[in-house]
Amino acid sequence: MRKKIVAGNWKMNKTLEEALILTSEVVNMVRDEVIGDVEVVLCTPYIYLPVLQKYVEEVDRISLGAQNCHQKASGAYTGEISAAMLAALGTPYVLIGHSERRQYFGETNELLAEKVKIALANGLKPIFCCGELLEQRQNEDFTAIVKAQITAALFDLSAEDFGKVVIAYEPVWAIGTGLTASSQQAQDMHAALREHIAGQYGAEVADDTTILYGGSCNEKNAAELFACPDVDGGLIGGASLKSREFTNIIKARM
Ligand code: PGA
Repeated sequence: MRKKIVAGNWKMNKTLEEALILTSEVVNMVRDEVIGDVEVVLCTPYIYLPVLQKYVEEVDRISLGAQNCHQKASGAYTGEISAAMLAALGTPYVLIGHSERRQYFGETNELLAEKVKIALANGLKPIFCCGELLEQRQNEDFTAIVKAQITAALFDLSAEDFGKVVIAYEPVWAIGTGLTASSQQAQDMHAALREHIAGQYGAEVADDTTILYGGSCNEKNAAELFACPDVDGGLIGGASLKSREFTNIIKARM
């Protein structure tokens, strides 16, 4: 079933004390205000996940996500975190292939295919990020580029496993820049990706796939973006670090 999801990606921000404050504020607001059937996910730094678990347990509609996981099951990979470790904590979601991981840590579509598989094998729900660079949007068939990212990382999956993946379309030129895609640009890409998924898995699976938009989404533009028929929610970076603004974005998704 296609879900409405608003996920916050905190990236490498917040001390433990700040994380506790932000989480309890979001939990309180979500508990006290009407958010309908929207699912809220907080993708926090790894080290806060076990601490924040008991805060989010208070409210049904909020859960946690990691921002990455390693592609191997376990072993001599100093500094890394496995999907099994996240699953054992009870963390339901994991971001895979965020553009900052692709850009600064050299993550390729082939590597991301491995990460998606190990996440699914451990019962995690991957939020798979895809999107084009500015020069690709200006000079190339950028829709084909984003489709190819999905093909390479996800189309080996069975339909059942694919059904557990959430897609986040994040044009790289819109991330952290204040340049949001227009609602038309977002809708065009989301519709093209849904059609691409239908070509591989059929119309029913495509229709059930949750596709989020990310990239400078904020409390001012969220309602217009979420009104697009193929935009099912958002992956929110900077604006997820402020509890009131993040809650306003959640309410815009209702
Ligand atoms: P932004 O980041 O909302 O700050 O642009 C989105 C993301 O990187 O997931």
